Amino acid sequence: MTHNVLVMPGDGIGPEIINEAVKVLQACNDKFGLGLSVDSALLGGAAIDATGGPLPEETLSKAKACDAILLGAVGGPKWDGLEMAIRPEKGLLGIRSELGLFGNLRPAILYPQLADASSLKPEIVSGLDILIVRELTGGIYFGQPRGIRTLENGERQGYNTYVYSESEIRRIGKVAFEAARARNGKLCSVDKANVLEVTVLWREIMDDMAKDYPDVELSHMYVDNAAMQLVRAPKQFDVMVTGNMFGDILSDAAAMLTGSIGMLPSASLDVTGKGMYEPCHGSAPDIAGQGKANPLATILSAAMMLRYSLNEGAAADAIEAAVSVVLDQGLRTADIASNGCQTVNTETMGEAVVSALLNG
Ligand code: NAD
Repeated sequence: MTHNVLVMPGDGIGPEIINEAVKVLQACNDKFGLGLSVDSALLGGAAIDATGGPLPEETLSKAKACDAILLGAVGGPKWDGLEMAIRPEKGLLGIRSELGLFGNLRPAILYPQLADASSLKPEIVSGLDILIVRELTGGIYFGQPRGIRTLENGERQGYNTYVYSESEIRRIGKVAFEAARARNGKLCSVDKANVLEVTVLWREIMDDMAKDYPDVELSHMYVDNAAMQLVRAPKQFDVMVTGNMFGDILSDAAAMLTGSIGMLPSASLDVTGKGMYEPCHGSAPDIAGQGKANPLATILSAAMMLRYSLNEGAAADAIEAAVSVVLDQGLRTADIASNGCQTVNTETMGEAVVSALLNG
């Protein structure tokens, strides 16, 4: 059986980190006989430069045909002046929505070796293991109508629409309840039900769904409190579920609890479990092309891809174990540098994971 994987390096540090992740996937392929076949496609700024648009037809058809996608990151100052409809980020939003990738899984795990990289005290974050489940194809980022209009008095007004239908809430709720069931059985639903009707409905549906998951303890929290609790006592959380915009913000905050955004993978799944996997960070134009990027978030995204979409759990475990080995060896990229450890570049880090994997 062949697993057809599509890689989309994207922009900035994207090509550097994807290179290392592909090396790790090839090593896994050799070690576990996975039958991986890897193709590549353009997305974002790279696609704009080559074709004029951020999501070329060829990319979309390859993305629809493959079994799973591994993405680097898109965007950068070169394309910031373009109008919104053809910006690199539109390619990313477009592919998520075309493929129906509504369920975003963002783990925030603090590796014990990196406890001192967090800006929080070690006793508050050590052992942290949270999963944020974010709805990805609805909410205010996609709601219509939207735009910037000129009012009768000549003043300009920007507007967006925050909307969720019951079926959208139920399908993300299912992902979250099932994830909680497979972990420690605790689910915190985050909303702003004291102000926004759309999240009053969200809360009502989560409560209704909880009846089907008696083994999961459901709680609710307003988003402002959730932001505060994440930095005050983050270990109180197991799985958190929330809408697109709140999830965008909270998952970045959770990412920082772990010390570096360069360590964090993510998965975006459709209803069948097919998915796109990418690091939580962006294209980091400030360090692009300098060999400074941490490839571990992308390598760990490849592990999630093997586990969630390709059903190759043993290979995923082996990648995660190899990452832990290189951290034990004291190898660090600049973003997670620490006293007494060796600072290495992107390629050396990737190759160390390959060798730990092959020797593991
Ligand atoms: P960013 O995540 O790219 O960078 C934030 C900071 O983290 C920078 O200092 C960067 O150097 C550092 N960083 C990020 N990834 C790193 C890694 N792997 N190793 C070491 N350091 C790392 O966020 P930003 O600066 O706000 O955005 C830059 C561009 O990326 C923008 O064009 C933005 O639109 C785009 N972006 C893309 C995605 C995506 O493709 N999914 C997500 C977020 C931002």
